[in-house]
Amino acid sequence: MLRLSKLNKYYKVGTHSLHVLRDVDLEIGEGEMVAIMGSSGSGKSTLLNILGILDDYDSGEYWLGDTLIKNLSETKSANYRNRFLGFVFQSFNLLPFKTAMENVALPLYYQGVNRRRRNQQAMQYLERVGLADWADHTPAEMSGGQKQRVAIARALIGKPRMILADEPTGALDSTTSGQIMELMSEINRSGITVLIVTHDPEVAAKTPRTIRIHDGKIVNAPISSEKVISEPAVL
Ligand code: ADP
Ligand code: MG
Repeated sequence: MLRLSKLNKYYKVGTHSLHVLRDVDLEIGEGEMVAIMGSSGSGKSTLLNILGILDDYDSGEYWLGDTLIKNLSETKSANYRNRFLGFVFQSFNLLPFKTAMENVALPLYYQGVNRRRRNQQAMQYLERVGLADWADHTPAEMSGGQKQRVAIARALIGKPRMILADEPTGALDSTTSGQIMELMSEINRSGITVLIVTHDPEVAAKTPRTIRIHDGKIVNAPISSEKVISEPAVL
C-alpha cells in the first residue's frame, strides 16, 4: 500500500530548524490495521499529514502504491487524497450548522454529485456506523462518540483504500473509545487499510500491529526494554 524510505522532515523555527522526522523507514501493506504510537511531540501528526499528502517532506521517498509522492501540484495531491484516502481527526471537524447527513454527504458535494444521490449515499453510510436515526441532527445535539461516527461515515463515503486517523479517540471516554476502535476494526475487515495515530496504549493494543515513534524516529524495541538499555551497565 505504502512505503517510506529514509524520510526526513524539518520545521523552520525562527533561525534554526527542527528535525521532526528522522530517516523514517516504514512499510504498510494493503489491508493492514496499524497503530502509530508515541508521546506528545514525537512527530505522529507530522508523519500522518505527510502520509495523507497534506504536508511535504524534505528528503527521502514516499511511495503510495506505484506513485512517488513528491513535489506534487495541489491539484494532483487533492486528486490522490480524494481517490485513495479518508481522514478522521480527534476533534471530528464537522460543520456545526449542517446535519449529520449533510456532513457525511459533503465530499460528494465537492465531487459534483447531485443532492438526491449524495443524501441517499450519506444515509447508507450513516446506517453503516449505526446512526441512521440521527441523520437530521446537528453536531451540537450529538455525543462525542456519535460525532466521531459521523466523521467516520464522511471518511468512508469517498470509498477510500486507506483511512488515516489522528488520535480518533483522543476526546472520548474509554468505553466510547473502545466502541470507535471496534468500528475501525470492522472497517478494516471490509478490506480498507487503517492507520491510527495514538498516544494511548489501550488503543494501540486493539490493532494487530503497533509502530512506535520516539523523537521522530521509528523505534522497533518495545518501550519497556528501552529502560533497560538506558540504565548504567554493570561490568
Ligand atoms: P505529535 O502529533 O506526536 O504530538 P507533532 O507531529 O504534532 O507531534 O509535532 C512534532 C514536533 O514538531 C513538535 O516538537 C512540534 O512542536 C513541532 N511542530 C509541529 N508542527 C509544527 C509547525 N507547523 N511548525 C513548527 N514546529 C512544528
Ligand atoms: Mg498530534
